[in-house]
Amino acid sequence: MRKTKKLMMIHAYTPIAKPINTSVQKNSTMLLLGQIPYENGSKIFTTKLYYIKGLRGMLRHACMSLAQDCSIEVCHTSEKTELKDGTKVTPSGFHPLGECEPPCILKRIFGTFREESSISVLSDPIASIKHKEFTTEVPVQKVHIASEYRIAKSFTGIPIQDFKESYFSGYFSFCIDVTELTDYEIKFLMESLLYIETLGAGKRSGYGRIKIISFEFQKVEITRKIDRENGSYKVVENESITPLELDDIESWRDSIPSWTQGTQDGMLPVLNE
Ligand SMILES: [Zn+2]
Repeated sequence: MRKTKKLMMIHAYTPIAKPINTSVQKNSTMLLLGQIPYENGSKIFTTKLYYIKGLRGMLRHACMSLAQDCSIEVCHTSEKTELKDGTKVTPSGFHPLGECEPPCILKRIFGTFREESSISVLSDPIASIKHKEFTTEVPVQKVHIASEYRIAKSFTGIPIQDFKESYFSGYFSFCIDVTELTDYEIKFLMESLLYIETLGAGKRSGYGRIKIISFEFQKVEITRKIDRENGSYKVVENESITPLELDDIESWRDSIPSWTQGTQDGMLPVLNE
């Protein structure tokens, strides 16, 4: 089996991030995955794995910010234009999700509720591993994971309610599979990385600050073959990575059809002949 992918590997840091599991709950906890063994010296230990939720949403938000900065009208986050009470929810510079033909750059990259996204955002699970040296059979990112116990005080300063929030801290990486994107869509995505600032809950209190440090753009060739070993079959996978280069990242602007240029007052632009 041989497969070729185009990937963007992004390296980031957070001092403290709370990628919440659900939107409404008293105790916000991170999404717990399974438990795996790891080896330190000749000893075997176990560790819990957690998933970094919200990376795709973080990226989509960054792309929306870039489009707004360049006055390009793109899909909003929802098909709804107003709430039951008549409150308008589509901000100026956006159209309701999916209501663009030909599709805007956000629809081409992220899809809609009905159409699949052209990219996948992937991240190896994170784990809190006490040992400096360790080996695992599956890929894991070592970060610091802990819980913060917080107290809500009354107006007069009396503690009235406890709550617990989980967080992680440290360097982490994630990967965007951009195999299905054109070069100019990839350039748009690359520039959007400049707009990534936060992830998860507590932004207003200073939590979830994300710093994008660097990224690699690469062609990854994956080959898998079956090996027979001591009477059983084993799948052996090999990856060969070649760095790819794209010049003049900002040139994606020249490839955007002129009709998608938004207007100052946020009205739907007129289709140019
Ligand atoms: Zn759109």
